[in-house]
Amino acid sequence: MEIKGFEKFTLIDYPGKAAAVIFLSNCNFKCGFCHNSHLISQEKRSELKTYPKEEVFEHLKKNKGYIDGVVISGGEPTLYAELPLLISELKEMGFKVKLDTNGSHPEILFSLIKNKLVDYVAMDIKTNFNNYNKVCDGDVTGNVKKSIELIKTLKDYEFRTTVVPKVVDRESLLKIAAYLQLNGANKKFVLQQFLPQNCHDPAFLKLKKTSVDELKALQLELKPLFKSVEIRTE
Ligand code: SF4
Repeated sequence: MEIKGFEKFTLIDYPGKAAAVIFLSNCNFKCGFCHNSHLISQEKRSELKTYPKEEVFEHLKKNKGYIDGVVISGGEPTLYAELPLLISELKEMGFKVKLDTNGSHPEILFSLIKNKLVDYVAMDIKTNFNNYNKVCDGDVTGNVKKSIELIKTLKDYEFRTTVVPKVVDRESLLKIAAYLQLNGANKKFVLQQFLPQNCHDPAFLKLKKTSVDELKALQLELKPLFKSVEIRTE
């Protein structure tokens, strides 16, 4: 497990908290529209600086007065068996921890939730379950559904979908929303704007960014199904 990115301070990545973000590299999904291609592609990530854990922890300790939480993002953090140890060290330092995940490793999530190591989980729902294999590698929907069941037991969580043209249309979103509502995983849903920047598959760079008007119209339509529906733009 290598730390391939470290954002020292953010007010937008952990709702309601001042936080730092640790980025772990590699992901098993390899979505074409992924805007973190530098963390996904083997060639690009080998060129990235590796942040020594000691350096990151030193900064966190020094800034404990300003930072309430740490976000573990990626890439896909649950690829790493060492993740629970990393998070337990952060918890021992007194930080709240938010995890960003694609939901492909419910066994790691189970261990993190059972041991009260995560305070907030944000999980991507890529598209409706019938189309998942068109978006990412492998047959993952069984694990994604198991992860939804685990995450919905938390006090603080969000499910989020990037509205990518030609990948996630209104019909897909209605199916995702209906599934989450039917399964009681409907506390918070976030509609994310797609930006044609730094995409893993260059074909996505030719698409237009999702318009804010489209996101607002979708937000209005989905509102009755969730306790809250938010829009996240650039
Ligand atoms: S968008 Fe998320 S799940 Fe997809 S490749 Fe990028 S990091 Fe992985």
